[in-house]
Amino acid sequence: MKKKIYFDNASTTKIDKKVIKEMFTYIKKKYGNYSSNNYFGLRVKDIVNNIRIKISKILNCNKNEIIFTSGATEANNLAIKGYAFSNEKKKNFITFNIEHKSVLNVYKKIENFGHRIFYLEANKKGIYSTKKIKEYIYKYKIDMISILWVNNEIGVIQNIKKIGDICNKRNVIFHVDGTQALGKIKVDLLKYKIDLFSASAHKIYGPQGVGFLYKRENIKIVSEIQGGGQEMNLRSGTLAIHQIIGLGKAIELANRDLIKNNKRIKRISKYLVKELLGIEDTRINGSLKYRVPHNINISFGSIEGESLMLKMRNICLSSGSACNSSSLEPSYVLKNINVPTYMIHNSIRITLGKYNSIKEAKYFIKKIKKAVKELRNISPLWEIYKNSLKK
Ligand code: PMP
Repeated sequence: MKKKIYFDNASTTKIDKKVIKEMFTYIKKKYGNYSSNNYFGLRVKDIVNNIRIKISKILNCNKNEIIFTSGATEANNLAIKGYAFSNEKKKNFITFNIEHKSVLNVYKKIENFGHRIFYLEANKKGIYSTKKIKEYIYKYKIDMISILWVNNEIGVIQNIKKIGDICNKRNVIFHVDGTQALGKIKVDLLKYKIDLFSASAHKIYGPQGVGFLYKRENIKIVSEIQGGGQEMNLRSGTLAIHQIIGLGKAIELANRDLIKNNKRIKRISKYLVKELLGIEDTRINGSLKYRVPHNINISFGSIEGESLMLKMRNICLSSGSACNSSSLEPSYVLKNINVPTYMIHNSIRITLGKYNSIKEAKYFIKKIKKAVKELRNISPLWEIYKNSLKK
């Protein structure tokens, strides 16, 4: 197999041809400014309106509750700062220590403005304690909580239903970063009692640079970007119609093919997990039970993840989070779920998508088994490990 294998779908996904086609049709033939009241503008307004309706039907919300943004980072910023600065009395927030940086760093920032943030700890499987959430809500008059539905590094799924019920009962605003959940889990905003929901197109075979924030209609937030007042006065700037068209099509396809895609990915994932755990001295990081099959974060004793990746150059993987991988800092997510530092350096993240095949998985297993063997053959640490087993 000569071609490159892409196992880095949590970083970004290959854009679907059907998405490209719709975006190009617009760019070539149907340009216009959403805010103009001429023929071209009204035509564009109609297109965007239909996309809002489509998304709202899929997610079970109202069409005016969708605010288009440049991606999930912006949506998380708008949700958190927008709410925190909407009312002087809204001061107390909960989040967790393995959230995405686009949530954690926003909270770090608003701490400087007198807000009090409780960074709760995930357990060693990466799961959040609903008991602890309840406890803090009672004790500290919490105003809002931000939770990642599916973790981008370890694929662990949180109990959104239970947390949604807890927040709803206590009038706590429930913000969910659904970037890695959309397209993998059926999202029903009403059922899960979600107040704010962030997502991005490029994780679901759509274009980069576009996403949205869902905001329940009765919740007041303030805008981050001032200007012409687009997006219900919450996100000024000329709407990027071709991007929004791409997002709309990607959500439509993700919803249509959810079961089919999951079935395919589950089969590949099951095979990979069985084969990888069959290799001596390996461990999966994060819960094996509460995870999406798309993500396998695994550590190999006595081998650096980076060395493994170098040995398999035609297979695109990630060691730690993609956002961190330009530095060799150990992943804070793995650190915060108590993975020992050496095992963090020994980890790789395999993330699967709808274009992967079992044939690729079989090739990968053959390659990785060979690479592990070769690297361990020259590893003094492996020798020490093997000797320790003899004692
Ligand atoms: N949240 C999560 C969980 C993510 O995985 C990402 C992307 N790595 C983001 C937020 C940021 O998304 P975007 O790239 O659209 O800004």
